[in-house]
Amino acid sequence: MQKNSNIEIDFRSDTVTRPTDKMREAMASAEVGDDYYRDDPTVRALEDYTARLFEKESALFTPSGTQSNLIAVMSHCAQGEAYIVGDQSHSYLRELGGAAVVASVQPQVIPNQSDGTLAVTDIEAALYPASILFSPARMIALENTFNGQILPIDYLQQVSALARQRSLRMHLDGARIFNAARALNVHVCEIAQHFDTISFCLSKGLGAPVGSLLVGTRDTIEKGRRHRQLLGGGLRQAGILAAAGLYALNNHIERLTEDHKRAKRLAKALADIPGVTPDIPQTNMVFCAVNPAVQDHFAAFLLDRQIAVSGTASRQRWVTHLDIGEATLTRTLDHLTEFAKQTVAA
Ligand SMILES: *Cc1c(COP(=O)(O)O)cnc(C)c1O
Repeated sequence: MQKNSNIEIDFRSDTVTRPTDKMREAMASAEVGDDYYRDDPTVRALEDYTARLFEKESALFTPSGTQSNLIAVMSHCAQGEAYIVGDQSHSYLRELGGAAVVASVQPQVIPNQSDGTLAVTDIEAALYPASILFSPARMIALENTFNGQILPIDYLQQVSALARQRSLRMHLDGARIFNAARALNVHVCEIAQHFDTISFCLSKGLGAPVGSLLVGTRDTIEKGRRHRQLLGGGLRQAGILAAAGLYALNNHIERLTEDHKRAKRLAKALADIPGVTPDIPQTNMVFCAVNPAVQDHFAAFLLDRQIAVSGTASRQRWVTHLDIGEATLTRTLDHLTEFAKQTVAA
């Protein structure tokens, strides 16, 4: 199969997975129709299945997580209103400011703590009294997992209680919510029940080529359907893509545990390299600090072995996923052991 010729083992992201043969078979045999008319049975099946899985009323298939987060903002907040969001969150930092640029909704930004949470005291301080001067906040957005870290369930309870008390909606950017649920060994509803809307990606650890879903009440999702149209996200015979999503939800959730175990083994091997200090991974991401003394040497070694990672020279990110199987991981661990020996000897 064709791929980036300089990369043999790709740890940059769980978005790099390619559909498996079985997933491609499901796509090839999908029944399709024009989804503008709600005539695509496979899209409807995916949306219905997802709504049931999350124990919510309704779900909407979207082309991306970026769009699905933006649709949530537009569905919960009117022009000139505000939403509370973390300064390091994907939806604020890495989505080109869509809430402000497209929706005219003001992000009320507060710092993410290092564990990905927003301090409840910070949220309370950001809720200004009703006044002609302030944009009223309508929604709190959290992210789970956050850089591979899981938000504790009791924290979600705390924030959703505050949101109810203050009549705010709760949105979860749950791009990797299934990683969080698997790692906590809970059903995804245990997380989802604290939110009005949840966005999650089919195209990451679940291994589908394209797509996200937004889940919520029937009213919110029907509003969201109009916003998706406005954003150019209405699709026609999207059943081809929805079939990949259905296949992923039926076959690729439980196996996320394997990615998590492999991330732990990877972290262990990285820890054996002098000058490399990995965080303990909670799910499928390993972040490691790389000492300036080994940075160039390590980068050159990885390049030579055609191993790709993301992050920066001083803080690398390694992501495990469907296309890092047992053989590939073993090969990687062998390379890392070799590099550790070289580095000790030097
Ligand atoms: C990937 C990601 C998104 C956006 O998803 P796309 O499908 O790439 O637009 C949103 N939030 C988080 C946390 C992500 O990791």
